[in-house]
Amino acid sequence: ASVALRRALISVSDKTGLTEFATALAARGVQILSTGGSAKVLREAGLEVTDVAEITGFPEMMDGRVKTLHPAVHGGLLALRDNPDHVAAMEQHGIGGIDLLVVNLYPFEETVAKGADYETCIENIDIGGPAMIRAAAKNHGFVTVVVDVQDYDAVLAELDANDGGTTLPFRQRQAQIAYARTAAYDTAVSTWMAGAIGEATPRRRAFAGTLAQGLRYGENPHQQAAFYVSGETRPGVASARQWQGKELSYNNINDTDAAFELVAEFDAAQGPACAIIKHANPCGVAQGASALEAYRRAFDCDRTSAFGGIIALNRPLDGATAEEIVKIFTEVVIAPDADEDAKRIFAAKKNLRLLTTGGLPDPRAGGLTFRQVAGGFLAQGRDNGHVARADLRIVTERQPSEDELADLMFAWTVAKHVKSNAIVYAKDLATVGIGAGQMSRVDSTRIGRRKSEDMAQAMGLDQPLTVGSAVASDAFFPFADGIEALAEAGARAVIQPGGSMRDDEVIAAANRLGLAMVLTGQRHFRH
Ligand code: 5GP
Repeated sequence: ASVALRRALISVSDKTGLTEFATALAARGVQILSTGGSAKVLREAGLEVTDVAEITGFPEMMDGRVKTLHPAVHGGLLALRDNPDHVAAMEQHGIGGIDLLVVNLYPFEETVAKGADYETCIENIDIGGPAMIRAAAKNHGFVTVVVDVQDYDAVLAELDANDGGTTLPFRQRQAQIAYARTAAYDTAVSTWMAGAIGEATPRRRAFAGTLAQGLRYGENPHQQAAFYVSGETRPGVASARQWQGKELSYNNINDTDAAFELVAEFDAAQGPACAIIKHANPCGVAQGASALEAYRRAFDCDRTSAFGGIIALNRPLDGATAEEIVKIFTEVVIAPDADEDAKRIFAAKKNLRLLTTGGLPDPRAGGLTFRQVAGGFLAQGRDNGHVARADLRIVTERQPSEDELADLMFAWTVAKHVKSNAIVYAKDLATVGIGAGQMSRVDSTRIGRRKSEDMAQAMGLDQPLTVGSAVASDAFFPFADGIEALAEAGARAVIQPGGSMRDDEVIAAANRLGLAMVLTGQRHFRH
């Protein structure tokens, strides 16, 4: 049944809504205990407050590291009110029961996100707060715990509906939320530490995130969804600033991430680059002399698919590029920054979302990626593999030309971000045909070619741009048929990991068809 609420302990870092909530509690006859900063705010609002220091008999000390860690607090939270031994202990030691605990923790996640130094992050690990939260949540048979300012109204509504008390189902739900919070908090600490000390292994890691926002729905409208942030400080969709447009959807976030991670492969030294994504696969990627040119060339790979796509740039969005982008419907544009012209041009397109990240993530950085399976999930190191030109092994009679080598490296980089089986045709540092996500590699070669033929027709070219192209395959060719299909499409050079049982047959086919082929020794499956 309902448990009456007589005494509350309030200790919060985020003081949003605090005085209103405490005033409402006081009006319902609840006595208030509080710690330094929180007590100060409450007193200034004219509320009567007892300092925790008064009931512990100890001052807050060691820069606040020790404030509430005392039997007078933890006994009051943990005592079973219906257990005679517990009640006797409370009486013997002068411990008063605490019926409501209101705590939100030191802002560890925000401190990390701000890029604070090691010592500052350590100092922002809350110790007494989680201890109290876990104690109160364990004793939810008698104690109500609140860890989120968003729950204040629900507590007041519960009190009003239950004669100034709370019901067990309410306390259970609050306890469940409380443990989610402390789990996510410690996970944030562990995740940050893994980064700070360079610990890369996916073993011995805890996984959780902090709720960033609820989403309208998931991949489909009948699925619930939410966006959690992991506390990693990588520039990208989780930390981006949104300038305009409605809220991102689940699919938008997924696709925006794919777009930005891909374009980040091209750092400033490589000049402007643009990627256009649909359903997490690129439908066009290009480098260019300017962002505008990179966008136009990326768009020309597959204009049909680019409609309603997500665009990522590796440099600030400028007015000229923005002007070009708004000619068709686009869902999201993400870039390190955007100038005033670009913002003004986008402002006229209410539905277009503009995100800026402040920088590019390092594609070689470590980190973890996850995949959910029934009953669990798989964790692995991020695919930060990189192949340099010096690592390439030329295995054919024909050597790739300098231009072909540049296109091979470009296509290889893009292929890493295409769902397997991935085939990427490229020419002059632009994709000209992409085959993604097929169960047969030969089918991916055919799809990429057909896309290129469609574009050649749409653009009035004499022949598809796959003629004379360089091609990347994310994994080895198991048979010679894939090479034959590429030669039929007019490709002149191929980059692939090698390592098939039939590499000899594959190389012989390349020689017979006059193709140059290089092996990377590294695979980029992406499923
Ligand atoms: P205040 O602003 O009231 O001085 O401090 C509130 C913050 O202190 C809350 O975030 C709370 O979780 C935290 N806190 C409460 N007791 C302790 C303690 O004993 N040790 C540490 N490190 N933090 C505490």
